[in-house]
Amino acid sequence: VLRARGVRKRFGDSEVLKGVDLDVAAGEVLCVIGPSGSGKSTLLRCFNHLERIDAGRVLVGGELVGYEPYGPSGSVLRERRPRDIRRQRERIGMVFQRFHLFPHRTAVQNVMEGPVVVKRRPRAEAERQARGLLARVGLADRADHYPGQLSGGQQQRVAIARALAMEPTLMLFDEPTSALDPELVGEVLGVMRDLARSGMTMIVVTHEMGFAREVADRVLFLDQGAAVEEGPPEQVFGDPRQERTRAFLSTVL
Ligand code: ATP
Ligand code: MG
Repeated sequence: VLRARGVRKRFGDSEVLKGVDLDVAAGEVLCVIGPSGSGKSTLLRCFNHLERIDAGRVLVGGELVGYEPYGPSGSVLRERRPRDIRRQRERIGMVFQRFHLFPHRTAVQNVMEGPVVVKRRPRAEAERQARGLLARVGLADRADHYPGQLSGGQQQRVAIARALAMEPTLMLFDEPTSALDPELVGEVLGVMRDLARSGMTMIVVTHEMGFAREVADRVLFLDQGAAVEEGPPEQVFGDPRQERTRAFLSTVL
């Protein structure tokens, strides 16, 4: 589903991503761990072209994200048109630390918005789908509440339902539980665990090592913009090959 090769990104003088290679297959769950400032969020943002990459390429579903071949030999890349970029982003769901729900719309209206506005679905059909998704994240009885009437964990579950409403082929999560009160973390991780079991392809930046250990098929340790180590959770957590991974894990476990 996702293939990244030699992805580089700099902000001014600092190179934040130093040539990252990554493959994520359909149905796989990859957890990305690493210290603050190591480039985890930037990497996710490159995957749906919220950041322009300086070198390398990102393919989702076999299609170059954000760029297209150009010129007689097709060897030069140019940025895609905005509406092509929007179309590509529709297939990539993203859930952030903060929920970014529309405050003046109910949960079900938030979830319907994308399908109605972007996909031009009839409202009744979109509403039926939205209520189904809210039921799936355990919020059937909160569908007509406004975000301000919901807890942080409930709002984050609405945000997940909203992303799913676009029927993405890939879901990106950037520390989806780190803004939540501790007692609300579990309900969001539970929804993500169910989603993983349903076969969704997911890339999850997280500090929840228990979740990564249990749910991830593979774990990637990012440090100073480089993929230092990647492997099954048993190996990365249980017997890390790299000293830097070991040092990082000793600070968080
Ligand atoms: P955290 O765990 O704190 O979320 P992170 O691994 O997600 O960290 P990034 O947010 O990707 O790290 O940031 C990586 C580096 O890039 C940091 O040094 C950050 O200051 C820098 N950076 C990120 N976005 C920008 C930007 N828009 N302009 C300038 N520098 C940026
Ligand atoms: Mg981050």
